[in-house]
Amino acid sequence: MKKRSIAIDGPSGAGKSTLAKRLAQELGFVYVDTGAIYRTVGLAARRRGVDPADGEAVAAMLPRLSVDMGYGEDGLQHMYLDGEDVTQAIRENEISACASKAAALPAVRDFLLEMQRSAAREHDVIMDGRDIGTVVLPHADVKIYLTAKAEARAERRYKELLERGQRADLEQVLREVVERDRRDESRETAPLRRAEDAALADTTGLDLEGSFRLLLGIIRERLDV
Ligand code: C5P
Repeated sequence: MKKRSIAIDGPSGAGKSTLAKRLAQELGFVYVDTGAIYRTVGLAARRRGVDPADGEAVAAMLPRLSVDMGYGEDGLQHMYLDGEDVTQAIRENEISACASKAAALPAVRDFLLEMQRSAAREHDVIMDGRDIGTVVLPHADVKIYLTAKAEARAERRYKELLERGQRADLEQVLREVVERDRRDESRETAPLRRAEDAALADTTGLDLEGSFRLLLGIIRERLDV
């Protein structure tokens, strides 16, 4: 049977991963966090002392890199770099910028494209990222562009960092959010943008429950799940 796919794109901190994870559970779909895949490449560059913005150096690193995605006993997506489980390591705040720089490189996007498409061939998926509805799964059954004001997204990210016991400064987190948006939206390859046929969901002022209901409603209007 043809697998079903739901694409959720949007800027960082819009709540994509939290919501997609919950929706996947509710609908019995597999959640694919594509940001984690880019973060794994960002981490690889960092560990090898390669500048993640240096196209040639990163392209030279890719053929010797083993990036794998798997699902642990906890049912959650784990990332492996050269066989090592790096699921936690890729969440460090400094890896966000490395990932976003590496993600602007066409060689990196090509390298990771097939991994994402093959997950959608094998499972019913909810996939979140920046270019899922536009590039990775242009024929997704449901496309959602999830966004919120930068200030609201920065505040969520800030709380998340504190909860993880990391030190954070709200003003700096906001600057990083704005900078990452700019880089993701202005890059030449697969920039962050709303697909023409994507439903727009703005979660500014909505809590998690409200956002979840909004998305579930959008999905059920379009897909019999
Ligand atoms: O979603 P997350 O913040 O984990 O993504 C990290 C970075 O990876 C983003 O800032 C973005 O530059 C990049 N990314 C991307 N395309 C995707 C998913 C993530 O370019 N599909």
